[in-house]
Amino acid sequence: MAETVFQKIIDREIPADIVYEDDLCLAFRDVTPQAPTHVLLIPKKPIESIDQIADEDAELLGHLWITIRKLANELNLDAGYRVVVNCGKDGGQTVDHLHFHLLGGRAMAWPPG
Ligand code: 5GP
Repeated sequence: MAETVFQKIIDREIPADIVYEDDLCLAFRDVTPQAPTHVLLIPKKPIESIDQIADEDAELLGHLWITIRKLANELNLDAGYRVVVNCGKDGGQTVDHLHFHLLGGRAMAWPPG
């Protein structure tokens, strides 16, 4: 798997506005925010997309979801928020490292584009 921009952020090769980090994951603000709060949460393990999640990743995925809940609380998204995971070309994925978009601070439209 080619090194992605997110791997470079994990390795501190390029800067990012990091809002949370632990042994398993990293969260940082999206460089092109689509909402007043737009944070990306990524596993440090280089999983390309939802399609590459393995059975052994179940505990890691649980940790990511719990981290999202804590981040939403810390970022004061009390009125609600949206979590988006794009997968593949039709899903709109542009960076091949699994990432969760945490969006909040405004009301979201439905259906998504
Ligand atoms: P995707 O389209 O793959 O679901 O989302 C990729 C996201 O990564 C986009 O929202 C894009 O703005 C963000 N992004 C791409 N390159 C960088 C970068 O170098 N730094 C940060 N902070 N975000 C990035």
